[in-house]
Amino acid sequence: MENSSISIENVPGRYYVNDKCIGCAICSEIAPDNFTTNHEDGHDYVYLQPSSEAEEGLCREAMVLCPVNAIGIRG
Ligand code: SF4
Repeated sequence: MENSSISIENVPGRYYVNDKCIGCAICSEIAPDNFTTNHEDGHDYVYLQPSSEAEEGLCREAMVLCPVNAIGIRG
């Protein structure tokens, strides 16, 4: 993921979606409190960083299930 650029729509923080995203919306279905879809551009992005262990768990699940490994975490 180091050589893919990161969507500028992601809010600052640990989780991000990069430009490999194919817009399948799995992440926003798994973690709707943190990921959402840009319907115009056809990709998802992080609009709110997780603020609880439950949200963190769903974000990690989304990261694991993303079919193109477009979700990253810093630190
Ligand atoms: S699961 Fe991955 S490919 Fe699918 S919308 Fe989310 S970031 Fe994009």
